[in-house]
Amino acid sequence: MEYARLVGAYENIDATTKRLEMTGHLVELFRETPPDLIDRVVYLSQGKLYPDFVGIEMGMDEKLAIRSLSLSSGYSESKIESEWKRSGDLGLTAAEVLKERKQVTLFREPLTVEKVYGNLEKIARATGPGSQYLKVKLLADLLGNASPDEAKYVMKAVTGKLRLGVADMTILDALAIAFADAKEARSEIERAYNLSSDLGMVAGMLAKHGLGAIKDFKITVGKPIRPMLAERLTSIEEIIEKTGGRCAAEYKYDGLRVQAHVSSEITLFSRRLENITGQFPDVCDALLKSIRAKEAIVEGECVPVNVETGEMLPFQQISHRRGRKHGVREAVEEFPVILFLFDCLYVDGEDLTGEDLLNRRERLKEIVEESARVKISDLVVTDDPRVFGSFFEKAIGDGCEGLLAKSIGADSRYRAGARGWQWIKYKRDYKSEMIDTIDLVAVGAFAGRGRRTGTYGALLMAAYDPDEDVFKTVCKLGAGFDDETLAKLPTLFKEYLIEHTHPRVRSELKPDYWLTPSFVLEVLGAEITLSPIHTCGLDAIREGSGLAIRFPRFTGTWRDDKSPEDATTVQEVVEMYERQLKRV
Ligand code: AMP
Repeated sequence: MEYARLVGAYENIDATTKRLEMTGHLVELFRETPPDLIDRVVYLSQGKLYPDFVGIEMGMDEKLAIRSLSLSSGYSESKIESEWKRSGDLGLTAAEVLKERKQVTLFREPLTVEKVYGNLEKIARATGPGSQYLKVKLLADLLGNASPDEAKYVMKAVTGKLRLGVADMTILDALAIAFADAKEARSEIERAYNLSSDLGMVAGMLAKHGLGAIKDFKITVGKPIRPMLAERLTSIEEIIEKTGGRCAAEYKYDGLRVQAHVSSEITLFSRRLENITGQFPDVCDALLKSIRAKEAIVEGECVPVNVETGEMLPFQQISHRRGRKHGVREAVEEFPVILFLFDCLYVDGEDLTGEDLLNRRERLKEIVEESARVKISDLVVTDDPRVFGSFFEKAIGDGCEGLLAKSIGADSRYRAGARGWQWIKYKRDYKSEMIDTIDLVAVGAFAGRGRRTGTYGALLMAAYDPDEDVFKTVCKLGAGFDDETLAKLPTLFKEYLIEHTHPRVRSELKPDYWLTPSFVLEVLGAEITLSPIHTCGLDAIREGSGLAIRFPRFTGTWRDDKSPEDATTVQEVVEMYERQLKRV
């Protein structure tokens, strides 16, 4: 197929902003394209060579592209560069320069789509020594045979600047009209796309084998499924009503969404369908050990954690794991993560996307053996706003962003690529920061794991209530201890360990060890939140809820100068919480 035909369509599409007209031009183009070539034509029309998840992008350095243009036109690089500065568009510059080319090529072969795609692909894949030279040659080879208009689009494509604004949905519309009875076919074609994220492949299948093949379309392990997305509401009652009176409330973990494709190896895709396998070798290892199926596609959220205490850490920590090509191993050590799985889309040949949420979750439980690094999301099924509310507070206290309410009815299938009311997120509508440190009393301790075996993973901390003369819990403190301090803790606490809760301690939590309130530690947290498990400020703000310090951290200062009764009081914590709200 002549590349000029594609360029003709590009020109027409470029000349309009109306979706219907764009669709019409695409329909004509697709009908004239040989079926074997349609995948490449679809990718090229979006300025790509492959679907995004393959991760090979065009984006040749402009300086190199100018060198190619100089080679094929006979103009100096500096002249081309100053032309480019003037026009601001290397595609236009290429067209202008080639209109007046000095170097006359005697035998110009007409460019074909196959040839253009082939050279662009080689350019995108070239790496290592000699690759710059190769890229310049490959592009010059195309430009040498191109008409000015063709050169314009080749240049835009190779530098990653071809943006015709053809959206996925417009291509789907055009495919449905070009190859089938549009009305009947549109949703089937979209379904196939949602299950594969590969427009070129869907186009090829439709052009070669017709709508029947699309109707039979099957999930392929290794091709990402477009993720289901959530709506948002701010009232619990409304959420319960929207989800049919009863819903599954799940922790909304604050991390990175991951879709894991498991076969003999693991491939991980981000929410935007980038292949992020290389950045998370630890997650791959953990999943390979946890999944009891030959093939599976599962989804979850990857959350940064403190391995010793199991506590979730602020989302920002995970950014250190993203986009790394080097130092991956160090990052794995320094910023460990847990994968909380929340969905199961495919198991051993069986497509589960049509199943109800709770069935999918059952399958997830069947095939996943939980481990320290792979867990299944926390969930309650409820129709009661109070249960929802206190589960929300627990989620916040555990370091989550809020809850995701999911419908569990007949409409709860996995809707790939869709944002709908079947998933509704419920987050806090305020964000606040704790500025002051507070001084808290250690009243219990949790046994350490991993590197903290033999010492403590976290301490149970309390504020002082002078009215009742008791200590009320407000957080588990695991962060901020250096190795030396940790090693000293068991000896330090030895004399203060007791068998039961101290009579002056009010706690709903049961630590592994109870302590006589004696030690005062300075603590800084991210903020104060409502909590269903801590007793500090219970009922003060809301009935049945206490207050908790979120993401608490030991500052390193032992307040030996303070007796436990001099610690921050419950009343002070309540006031800090109220001040926080006002600040927003
Ligand atoms: P948002 O990014 O605010 O639109 O919220 C939706 C995102 O929450 C999803 O894309 C996931 O990355 C994340 N998430 C966290 N926990 C869950 C869960 N239990 N179920 C579904 N998504 C979750």
